[in-house]
Amino acid sequence: SPDTYDAIVLGAGAAGLMCAAVAGQRGRRILLVDHNDVVGAKILISGGGRCNFTNIHTAPDRYLSANPHFAKSALGRYTAADFVALVDRYGIAWHEKTLGQLFCDGSAKQIVAMLRDECAAGSVDYALSSPVGAVDHDGNAYHVALPRRTVTAPKLVIATGGPSIPKLGATGFAYDLARRFGLKVVEPRPALVPLTLGGEEALFATLSGVASEVVASAGKARFREAALFTHRGLSGPAILQVSSYWRPRETIGIDFVPNAASGWLIEAKRQQPRTTLRRALAAHLPDRLAEALAERIGVSTELANTPDRRLDEAARRLADWRFAPNGSEGFAKAEVTVGGISTADLSSQTLEARRVPGLHAIGEAVDVTGWLGGYNFQWAWASGWAAAQAL
Ligand code: FAD
Repeated sequence: SPDTYDAIVLGAGAAGLMCAAVAGQRGRRILLVDHNDVVGAKILISGGGRCNFTNIHTAPDRYLSANPHFAKSALGRYTAADFVALVDRYGIAWHEKTLGQLFCDGSAKQIVAMLRDECAAGSVDYALSSPVGAVDHDGNAYHVALPRRTVTAPKLVIATGGPSIPKLGATGFAYDLARRFGLKVVEPRPALVPLTLGGEEALFATLSGVASEVVASAGKARFREAALFTHRGLSGPAILQVSSYWRPRETIGIDFVPNAASGWLIEAKRQQPRTTLRRALAAHLPDRLAEALAERIGVSTELANTPDRRLDEAARRLADWRFAPNGSEGFAKAEVTVGGISTADLSSQTLEARRVPGLHAIGEAVDVTGWLGGYNFQWAWASGWAAAQAL
């Protein structure tokens, strides 16, 4: 029957497109379902429209998950080099921007067009503009109610992503469906998201627009990249990275002078006794930031008239400035979601639910979240590929 498939893939995002294409090319009859009228909406806006499609430094330790070993199998079997080979086969020009991040020279549209072509090569059927209604399992097959028909398959793949950026069609549907089949969901939280400052720290808003290279930390996680002050708090790659590790009521640390040698302020006092903390800092930081930090530290005297002890204190504070964010900008602004369908309930080889035969979950819906920099797409490709081998 035209409504019967080998597998139904829910969600035509990065993971769903890859999974459908690979399974289709393995000879499976696949239906790819999405409530949006376009496929790959997040791919199109990713990386500022150029799609940071992978990272050449992909490794399991660059992912957050309740089980840090879970991602190893899929990431090991479909690597960044495999995706680059696919991109090269399509003649899509790309470049490394920084830190192993690969971007299209042209447009993210090329990545979506490539995945559509790969799906066509696998004769994948689409059901777009199709919100998913009831999903039932009768022991042999899954029955999925779509607006004009009910489709049936022995295998069902949850690839509807996480709730980050609802205006692009993102929902928590994956979690609801997984729970319905008895799978656990690790509490979802917005990640790769700007953090907000309140109370006295809200005064940093006067620095809105100022950026500086820092080492930002949350717990044991440390990232050396740019931080940016915003009118609401803190952003920039270093902050987005630590936001994935940050939890409400915890503080984050910022080393504002990561390039300064230890004892640098005492040394500045010896070399330039007439200078001030503000001017010494301005050698390392944008002027406005140097001014604000010196003011907060409360050292305005010339270094010659400032005791070494106070300079040591100042240097220590500058190297681990504590901020206590009062929140984040939330799912509306988060690039990804940490948490999701528990890896404890899934096979790391096939992404199949251990106790629900034929049900698979891939991509961001799963409790595997990458760092900023192409790692999340690589997980989507790899988990989609791994599930496709089992369909
Ligand atoms: P998605 O790509 O989100 O796909 C899920 C699909 O499911 C969507 O098409 C959605 O419409 C559909 N869907 C959802 N709910 C339903 C429902 N109820 N019924 C039917 N369909 C549904 N990662 C990188 O690695 N590099 C980047 O450069 C990058 N840039 C990003 C920029 C932004 C602004 C954002 C928001 C994210 C970015 N990411 C980036 C993260 C990356 O986009 C995601 O990790 C990735 O898209 C996850 O793939 P996925 O297939 O699991 O989910």
